[in-house]
Amino acid sequence: MIGLSLAVKLASAGIEVVVLEQAARAGTGISARNSGVIHAGIYYPEGSLKSRLCAKGNALLYAFCREYAVPFRRIGKWVVATRSEETPALRAIEAHAKKAGVTSLSFHDGAAVRAAEPAVQAVAGLWSPTTGILDVAAYISALEARFSDLGGVLVSHTAVTAVGQAGAGDLWVEAGGMRLGATIVVNAAGLGAQAVARATEGLASRFIPELHLSKGSYFSYRGRSPFRHLIYPVPEPGGLGVHATIDLAGDLRFGPDVEAVSEPDYRVDQSKSEIFAEQILRYYPGLDRQRLSPDFAGVRPRLAPSNDLSDFAVSGPTAHGVDGLYNLFGCDSPGLTSSLALAEWLASAMILPK
Ligand SMILES: Cc1cc2nc3c(=O)[nH]c(=O)nc-3n(C[C@H](O)[C@H](O)[C@H](O)COP(=O)(O)OP(=O)(O)OC[C@H]3O[C@@H](n4cnc5c(N)ncnc54)[C@H](O)[C@@H]3O)c2cc1C
Repeated sequence: MIGLSLAVKLASAGIEVVVLEQAARAGTGISARNSGVIHAGIYYPEGSLKSRLCAKGNALLYAFCREYAVPFRRIGKWVVATRSEETPALRAIEAHAKKAGVTSLSFHDGAAVRAAEPAVQAVAGLWSPTTGILDVAAYISALEARFSDLGGVLVSHTAVTAVGQAGAGDLWVEAGGMRLGATIVVNAAGLGAQAVARATEGLASRFIPELHLSKGSYFSYRGRSPFRHLIYPVPEPGGLGVHATIDLAGDLRFGPDVEAVSEPDYRVDQSKSEIFAEQILRYYPGLDRQRLSPDFAGVRPRLAPSNDLSDFAVSGPTAHGVDGLYNLFGCDSPGLTSSLALAEWLASAMILPK
């Protein structure tokens, strides 16, 4: 999705763009296994790319959804403190978000949270009105259609196996048994970005950050959702906490959790349901454990074991010295929300001024 967003941006600037995709279709990687939440941009470290691009991406994504008829809902989210000891953390999130330019948050007492969400147990809550949900598959289809309208070409079933320098500032890409020439190569291969970078001739290994895979599992909740908005606990180390997300069909799921893995693994361990239940019960005492069932899992391409320390990383020629080459690493959450802002920034600040 991030590669496609950038491809649309570059094609709309009149550049001839080819997207090489190893899978049968675009958007079947990380982009197919996430919460589908349009984040407001309230948690990320000050000055980080995530902080800068999420808030901007939020507005761009809503505008794109409206323009290209991608289904979405600005459903809003509550971040809730379930014990008074957590209230300072909520206040800290509010202050942090304001500094990052997200001024739409409001702090409420437990009674106000209960009035909005009677099933939620909370002593206080932060209301984020700009958080929403979208149909991710429809977003990817809309990007593909836009790219095609702009004359872009997407070649599926074509894995990039090597990249190298052809001289005079040109590059070559080996993919699907072909060797293609290019003046700009952007490696936006998600979980495969480090592998593509390692297969790039002339790129020193110190410019390839270590990949930390972080699995997130979800449990679905059968029946009618007890919530009208997204419900998040106060964040935990490494993730946003097991939260409640409603999709556009009105179905509720809980997750994702945070689990370090050595290989992508998309099975959901049924035995986790007890741990999920414990965490959910803190803010939803009416939980019926029988209605929880394993749903799906996604894998985050982090650059550090902890969420707080893992930012998006973009490295271009001024950093690594390979003319025309841009590598994108660590595009985990909020990569969906930030996708259009990341593409805009990358194109206008790094690639097009060349
Ligand atoms: C559990 C989870 C929950 C998340 N929730 C949210 C959320 O609610 N909101 C949000 O904003 N973000 C969320 N994210 C983050 C978001 O999903 C990602 O940031 C985004 O999808 C990353 O897109 P991408 O294009 O970088 O990766 P991908 O979608 O994986 O795209 C990379 C593509 O490269 C292809 N590829 C790989 N290697 C090669 C190769 N050698 N040659 C050719 N093609 C190759 C892959 O097949 C893939 O299609 C979540 C992520 C996870 C894991």
